Amino acid sequence: MKKPLFILQIAIPKPIYGHFDYLPPVNFNVNQLQPGMRLQVPFGRKNTCIGMLLAIADKSSIEFNKLKPAYKVIDKQAILSKTDLHLLQWASRYYHYPIGEVITTALPTFLNKGHSDKIPLLQGWKLTTAGLAQSLEQLPKNAHRQREILTLLQKYPQGLSQISIIDQLSSQIIATLRTLERKSWVMPQSMNYIPSNDSKLPRSLPLKLNTAQKQVVNQVSSQLDTFYPCLLDGVTGSGKTEVYLQIVQTLLEKNKQALILVPEINLTPQIIDRFKRRFAMPIGVWHSKLTDKERLHTWILARDGVISIIIGTRSAIWIPLARPGIFIVDEEHDPSYKQQDHFRYSARDMAVVRAQRAKIPVLLGSATPSLDTLFNANQQRYHHFILPKRAGSAVQPSFHIVDMRHHIYKKESLSEPLKTAIRQCLIDHEQALLFINRRGYAPLLMCYNCGWVAFCEHCDARLIYHENTQILSCHHCGNSRPLDTQCPHCQSPRLELIGQGTERIEERLQKEFPVARILRIDSDSTRKKYAMVQALEKIHQGKVDILVGTQMLAKGHHFPKVTLVGIINIDGGLYGVDFREPERMAQLLVQVAGRAGRVEKPGKVIVQTYHPDHPLLTRLIRYGYPAFAETAIKERQKALLPPYSRLALMRAESIEPKLAIAFLEKFKTHLQQYQYEQVKLWGPVASPMEKRDKWYRAQLLLQSNQRDKLHQLLAQSLANLSTTSKVRWSLDIDPQDLL
Ligand code: ADP
Ligand code: ZN
Ligand code: ZN
Repeated sequence: MKKPLFILQIAIPKPIYGHFDYLPPVNFNVNQLQPGMRLQVPFGRKNTCIGMLLAIADKSSIEFNKLKPAYKVIDKQAILSKTDLHLLQWASRYYHYPIGEVITTALPTFLNKGHSDKIPLLQGWKLTTAGLAQSLEQLPKNAHRQREILTLLQKYPQGLSQISIIDQLSSQIIATLRTLERKSWVMPQSMNYIPSNDSKLPRSLPLKLNTAQKQVVNQVSSQLDTFYPCLLDGVTGSGKTEVYLQIVQTLLEKNKQALILVPEINLTPQIIDRFKRRFAMPIGVWHSKLTDKERLHTWILARDGVISIIIGTRSAIWIPLARPGIFIVDEEHDPSYKQQDHFRYSARDMAVVRAQRAKIPVLLGSATPSLDTLFNANQQRYHHFILPKRAGSAVQPSFHIVDMRHHIYKKESLSEPLKTAIRQCLIDHEQALLFINRRGYAPLLMCYNCGWVAFCEHCDARLIYHENTQILSCHHCGNSRPLDTQCPHCQSPRLELIGQGTERIEERLQKEFPVARILRIDSDSTRKKYAMVQALEKIHQGKVDILVGTQMLAKGHHFPKVTLVGIINIDGGLYGVDFREPERMAQLLVQVAGRAGRVEKPGKVIVQTYHPDHPLLTRLIRYGYPAFAETAIKERQKALLPPYSRLALMRAESIEPKLAIAFLEKFKTHLQQYQYEQVKLWGPVASPMEKRDKWYRAQLLLQSNQRDKLHQLLAQSLANLSTTSKVRWSLDIDPQDLL
């Protein structure tokens, strides 16, 4: 009889589709192998790498004598469940991205490097029987520390880690622990690492819900065992977070876990605080500022079901859960949910996919839902819950348009109506917030003599002047140089800085309102650790009169003292090259406006524009976001753009001009041979910003209203794509921008 063959199909972290076949390690009992285990394998001539076992097969397309045995098996048990492994394989197929690299993205760095998936035991202490029997009254009066320790440990009969003891008492406690050990009242004990909810904030109780909130909580809570996708559509302050909290409450009672996605790290403290105050239990947080070790721990604790609430940014969507109960995506419209390089997944879309596979609810919340999600709700694929009013008593702000064409010759960034409103705000001791979507001082340096404009030498982009550092800087490649004193072209000294950035508005305000306390918030001013936290504190303590900032201010923050919002300029969004720009503009405008007048006083929003008659803008301002969205969706339908079709964008770039576009021409011919009539091919064309960071870029757009066909075509054509080392390419499924 022939010996049975065991072929290990292993995912390798290399840019190659599909898996690699290996033989089991020599003398290894194959019965101990499970998919989801990591193995060390030879790769290439002398390299080794860590791969993950996907499956065991009985045949291979590789000749037997060419198969190599794996070196060793790293894990005693699978580190990923079959469910999670299948999810990653699904994502790899959907995004047409190599499975090995999908796994690398999904796993914490330490696991990719081969570290253990167990958290080391901690040193801890517990009471002995004698310690338990010890009466506290009989201790000497001055034995405060001993009394503290004994009292604390009585609450933890299983023991408590030394770190937690120190946390709760003080670091001087260790000597006392030793004393108690000598008395045989306490003994050392190895402990599992269990995180604590270290919040010193007062606990918050569930609020009495209004009718609309109650309906969502009741509906979702009655569907916990089914795939129940919903859009929670409610203006800022309408009580979405309270809805999340109460749904999570019902889940916890059923011993399930909740994963909550939030867009950005500077937004997370508030939502994390609210969860910590509501639930007296450890809460896992996940964002890019954690150390690798912290990430590993959170990942393991979630996978093993030790923690039940996890709040994180985009990549948290890959955290495995032992008992998944719900996925919540807050601010679901936020572009940061789409990864913009390497593995270009959408965490929001993956949340829906994961919920569907796990048969649980998924809640997409937003004050300005994306058109894609609204469309799904209109098609009744998602349940659509609307929270119509602001919870409590706050009312919606009022909008005013200022026609900037009247101001154009005065080179004035602040219109009279805006200045008057700011003045009034200062008199009333309230805060004003000015929004401008550009950091730096001025976006353009121009010669008045010959028309020369300062461009980046590596990009098709203008250099932005930064007053603080006195440099011209490129926001695309980071290239920078000192400000010119004369025109490099005609030597004229008549150089002019044109346009507005946050720094210039700040300067202008300081001149106009010399006694006002002005605070600028953008990625330059908040670069230092804690800078954002400190800035927010200042604002909340009322130590700021006027806030100037970029979209960093638009997201999630509650500024109860802000009653005036000024939008300096949003016109870029009205006539942008990307079809999603009006949608982004509307979301930003509504989100910024949502910062105003949250508590007792209605806010006022002043929008400065050179296009006061633009139909989408006026519709947005007159009738609100839902009306805007309805019109914008109709325009997408006319143009057969998403959500009425599916897109995939093939991008290519090369150092030598023309190579990228030639590569895409060839790819297009390659695609055409499969003859899919249902898939339209647009391009290739040079990208809107053709040169970026020395690379020339081009793109080919694939469009279809039949998703399956689009994916079939891509799968077939990518499997035998001929590439060249001179061209880098990437494929973006459901691209969020076409730049
Ligand atoms: P959102 O997440 O939609 O911005 P929040 O849940 O943060 O809204 O609610 C906004 C404010 O209203 C918060 O201060 C919150 O405590 C309060 N709030 C929410 N729901 C209620 C309610 N049912 N009754 C009273 N106040 C509420
Ligand atoms: Zn010149
Ligand atoms: Zn540049």
